[in-house]
Amino acid sequence: MAIVAGVRFATRDGGFTELDDQAVQGFAASLRGGVVRPGEPGYDEGRLLWNGMIDKRPALIARCSGAADVIASVNFARDHDLLLAVRGGGHNVAGRAACDDGLMLDLSLMRGVRVDPSTGTVRVQGGATLGDMDRETQVFNLAVPAGVVSTTGVAGLTLGGGTGWQTRKRGLTIDNLISADVVTADGQLRVASDSVGASSDLLWGLKGGGGNFGVVTSFEFQAHPVGPNVMLCAPLYPAELGASAVRAWHEFMQDAPDEVGGGFLFWSIPANPYFPTEHHGKPCVIPIAVYVGDPDRGDKLTQPLRSLGTPYVDLSGPIPWTALQSMFDPFVPKRDLQYYWKCTYLTGLGNDVMDFVVQRAATIPSTYTYLVIFPFGGAFTRVGAEDTAFGRRDIPYMLEFDSMWADPAQADRNIEWTRSVWADTQRYSTGGMYLNFPGFAEEGENMVRDSVGPDNYRRLGAIKAKYDPTNLFRLNLNVTPRA
Ligand SMILES: Cc1cc2nc3c(=O)[nH]c(=O)nc-3n(C[C@H](O)[C@H](O)[C@H](O)COP(=O)(O)OP(=O)(O)OC[C@H]3O[C@@H](n4cnc5c(N)ncnc54)[C@H](O)[C@@H]3O)c2cc1C
Repeated sequence: MAIVAGVRFATRDGGFTELDDQAVQGFAASLRGGVVRPGEPGYDEGRLLWNGMIDKRPALIARCSGAADVIASVNFARDHDLLLAVRGGGHNVAGRAACDDGLMLDLSLMRGVRVDPSTGTVRVQGGATLGDMDRETQVFNLAVPAGVVSTTGVAGLTLGGGTGWQTRKRGLTIDNLISADVVTADGQLRVASDSVGASSDLLWGLKGGGGNFGVVTSFEFQAHPVGPNVMLCAPLYPAELGASAVRAWHEFMQDAPDEVGGGFLFWSIPANPYFPTEHHGKPCVIPIAVYVGDPDRGDKLTQPLRSLGTPYVDLSGPIPWTALQSMFDPFVPKRDLQYYWKCTYLTGLGNDVMDFVVQRAATIPSTYTYLVIFPFGGAFTRVGAEDTAFGRRDIPYMLEFDSMWADPAQADRNIEWTRSVWADTQRYSTGGMYLNFPGFAEEGENMVRDSVGPDNYRRLGAIKAKYDPTNLFRLNLNVTPRA
């Protein structure tokens, strides 16, 4: 165990408190995973998140190895009124998983996954990544509907909803969440579940209410048969085909079965050995379709999307599920890029919207950035708005602005561009947004209210008051406790 001297911590109200050696050492000794202080090995690895813009320095990192360490950390933070950040996979673009001078509860030692092949259920620890989960479930040709980049944390993604290739077939990740073990602000480990005697209100709140209610030490999901191979349709067409290609993709999606997930991408071909050198940097459009079912059927079905013109490159073909799930990883690296991701829920995809997006895509200031039109529909819409905290399910499409750049000096330019396009899209929007792509969450709590809807927002406030009345868990898309 490291010798730990007295530490100055930020408190929840914005002040500071000094804890003596005894208190801090006692806490350190109570953790199996230990603590890391500034300057010690592992400090930077623990505190640095995906987004290269976020550079926060916690006073102490608690490396939790299990629920007992989480309970000890929550109790320590609450008893001393410390500012507390909770880190799952560290992907959150707004950077709420770290804090300056507070206690950072790091779950990256808790990445275990256990599959029960007899029921297709999966138990996943709170620090696991999508790659951890896919690796284990694919042993049994199963997959939990989740996101599309293997390094993303299961926890943050799930608590915000969870979109990916399977959203139309199986709904959001939360629609496949059966139960969760949660350490709430009082240091109790509770089972959030619809089973008799368990906390069903807590389960409802976790399904879209973010990290407001406690630390999830493990999730239980229903997985579904997927793979080992699925069909990927991904021709990279010249950007000049954007207007016609997006219309063709939209028409295709109108009749597509629920097995088809995907998105329409506006991108620049990355300078990556994956792509022929002569095409590096060229603006392109990609009508992506992933068929979550028999690859041969997917191949036939997606054929029309592969004959919209002459592609620069065509990545289409059957692909192992785990390879598909890590295909985008090289283009969204940890720390090497700065990220600002925001999104707009669209009321529909009329010609005006499509023309607008094509025009604005031509003004993207960074070759790393992509815009995506993401299709909902299918199983996503068959869940009621009040069945989960996530809220509305009548959204047909979402427009994502995944802005990325390498040079910190370009930050203002890229953020301003994103904000201005986002603002212009509001006239095509239902209001609200997908809370996993919140920019820096500049809109504060209004963003949560507008996204989940007024009734769900009220209910979230009451659940918050029950499980975290003093708002210990505040570094998130925060909901004020309201009894
Ligand atoms: C490259 C990239 C790809 C992405 N792809 C997708 C995608 O395909 N689909 C999608 O839906 N989203 C996607 N996202 C968004 C992603 O879902 C969110 O950024 C999410 O917050 C990431 O979760 P995390 O655990 O990695 O984040 P973290 O930054 O570790 O945590 C984010 C917040 O979640 C809470 N939290 C984390 N762990 C726990 C826990 N165990 N218990 C309680 N609260 C916790 C905390 O409040 C924390 O501040 C992507 C993001 C990136 C950067």
